[in-house]
Amino acid sequence: MSLLAVDDLDVRHGLLQAVKGVGFALEKGETLALIGANGAGKTTLLRAIAGAHRPAGGRVLLDGADVTAMPAHRRAAMGIALVPEGRRLFAQMTVEENLLLARSAGRRGRWTVEAVMEAFPNLRDRRKARAGSLSGGEQQATAIGRALMTNPDVLLLDEVSLGLSPLAVDRVYASLQGLIASGTTIILVEQDLKRALAVADRVICMLEGWSVLEARARDVTREQVTDAYFGLR
Ligand code: ATP
Repeated sequence: MSLLAVDDLDVRHGLLQAVKGVGFALEKGETLALIGANGAGKTTLLRAIAGAHRPAGGRVLLDGADVTAMPAHRRAAMGIALVPEGRRLFAQMTVEENLLLARSAGRRGRWTVEAVMEAFPNLRDRRKARAGSLSGGEQQATAIGRALMTNPDVLLLDEVSLGLSPLAVDRVYASLQGLIASGTTIILVEQDLKRALAVADRVICMLEGWSVLEARARDVTREQVTDAYFGLR
C-alpha cells in the first residue's frame, strides 16, 4: 500500500478551480518534485494534502486511511507536515522555542532540537537567537526543522529555495539529501528545475491546475519537462 495517495483531487478558490483531477501515489521514502509555472496550482495542492484547504472533490489517503475530511492539526498528528512558502516562523521567539512549539503538534519520534542541529549544522550557533534575526537560509532551516519536530511520515516543502542566496540553497539541499537518505518521504515544490530533478525520484508538472506530466526523474528529458511546463504540446 502507498504511504500517500492523492486520488482525483479537485480544489477550488471560489469560482476558480486551482487543482483539477490530480492523482498520484507515493511510496515510503520516495521524493516527488512538483513543478510548474506560477499559478499552476502547486501550493494549493500541497495545502490540500496538508489539510489547510478542503478539496471540492477527490480523496487524500495516508497509509490507506482517508484523511480528506480531517483538519490540518489532525493530519499533523497522523504524520503530514507542511513547510509553507514564506516560512512563517514566530519572529520574536528563539530558534529553539520555534522548534519546541511544534513538538506538541505532532507525534513522538526521533526528532529533537539536537537532531535538528545535526541535520542543519548552521543552526547550532543560532539556537538562542530570535528567528526574526536569522538569515534567510537559517530561517528556512528552522522552518524545516520545525516541521521535522512533528516526526512526519510525509514532509511537504513549498519553495524552500525561494529568496535564498546560492550558498544558502546549497546548504538547505545538502540537509534535504540527508533527510532523503534517511528515508523521509518528501513532496517538493521547486521553481529550480535542475535542483528538483537532481534530488527527486519522480516528477509531476502542473499546468493550469492539471497534472500534465508524471515521470521518473532519471528518465525524463529536459525537453519533456520544458514542453510540459510551458504547455507546448
Ligand atoms: P506560485 O508558484 O505562484 O505559488 P502555484 O503553482 O503554487 O503558484 P497556487 O498558489 O496554488 O499556484 O495558485 C493556483 C491558482 O489559484 C492561481 O490562479 C492563484 O491565483 C489562485 N489562488 C491561490 N490562492 C488563492 C486564494 N487564496 N484565493 C483565490 N485564488 C487563489
